[in-house]
Amino acid sequence: MAIKCIDEIEIAGKRIFIRVDFNVPLGDGGEVQDDTKVVAALPTIRYAVDKGAKVILASHLGRPKGKVIPEMSLAPIAHRLSGLLGQEVVMAPDCIGEAVASLVERMKEREVLLLENVRFHLEETENDPEFAKQLAALADIYVNDAFGAAHRAHASVEGITHHMVVACGFLMKKEIEYLINALASPERPFVAILGGAKVSDKIGVVKNLMGKVDTILIGGGMAYTFLRSKGYEVGRSLVEDDKVPLAKSTLKEAQERNVDLRLPLDLVVAKEFTPDAEHKVVTIQEIPAGWVGMGIGPQTTEAFAAVIKGARTIVWNGPMGVFEIEAFAKGNEGVAKAVVASGALSIVGGGDSIAALKALGLADKITHISTGGGATLELLEGKTLPGIAALNR
Ligand code: ADP
Ligand code: MG
Repeated sequence: MAIKCIDEIEIAGKRIFIRVDFNVPLGDGGEVQDDTKVVAALPTIRYAVDKGAKVILASHLGRPKGKVIPEMSLAPIAHRLSGLLGQEVVMAPDCIGEAVASLVERMKEREVLLLENVRFHLEETENDPEFAKQLAALADIYVNDAFGAAHRAHASVEGITHHMVVACGFLMKKEIEYLINALASPERPFVAILGGAKVSDKIGVVKNLMGKVDTILIGGGMAYTFLRSKGYEVGRSLVEDDKVPLAKSTLKEAQERNVDLRLPLDLVVAKEFTPDAEHKVVTIQEIPAGWVGMGIGPQTTEAFAAVIKGARTIVWNGPMGVFEIEAFAKGNEGVAKAVVASGALSIVGGGDSIAALKALGLADKITHISTGGGATLELLEGKTLPGIAALNR
């Protein structure tokens, strides 16, 4: 992709509009509960400051739906960012309009201004061209570092790019490098590990990766819809009945395309979906009526680990079981350890998958942890993201 990065363009002395993802959780008192996203944007912001640009930051927060909702103001984040940067961050009263324009007018090099929540204007999510033009008028250069919003064709993500010199930030660059470039020309064997709760969330990923990977390992809640489609009795395990035909046709497609798609061989099943329920390991042929599949069993974990051991590239989305409950976390842990031990280039996406790796203390052993949520999923589904396409010129 011919996308320029912020360090490939001249920014000294220029007004630079950086779209960041500051959509962080706020507490009842308005305090920042988790500043991971703010910290993740620091390299790009610091770079722009150090180069002597006038730095204008924009983000959305929550879904105010075009109304000014004080609880969704970015002001608490300006405060947190100021502490992290060690310099003042001026909070703008809005993201467009005269007051903002005059604040920008008075900016000096190396100063940082945070615009108010762009979604306080309905025009943002409508990608209104006039609104996009007003945002663009604030600066000379546009930089997008908000990977988490790249799947939205919104004004501060897409519309604005039609009026400015564009580039990506460092966070965005890393996501593109791994999720697009590395997956387009992977070192083989290339293995996908797919799990999580629902088939309906992940079937697009299964279908897209089928054309790219050598092996697909399926675990987690979505395995049961596949097992059901093969005629197994799965008790009260998570099954999306309306997706059984789709699961069946997907298995058929894998066979026709010669893709090595593996389902669990054994499972940990529980009498109830509770932390201290009676549980045992059974093969997929022996799931007792009324019991619930909670995770992959030891035989499956071993078989998956053997595949993973030989992989050179791994993409992983979705845990292999109900990892939140200790009794059912073993399979996921075994797979996580195998991924780390393989030494392969590893890319993990999905909030719960990442949380599980963090809990195991293995997150920093993964080559790339993708922070995108919806954006990550859409890329894995093979979709073109409007926010990334807009930078490609
Ligand atoms: P991610 O956030 O990584 O994309 P998902 O949100 O798709 O993953 O799924 C994660 C959730 O799936 C976890 O809360 C986990 O408990 C649940 N899950 C995994 N296996 C099962 C299962 N066998 N039955 C029910 N839920 C499951
Ligand atoms: Mg999730």
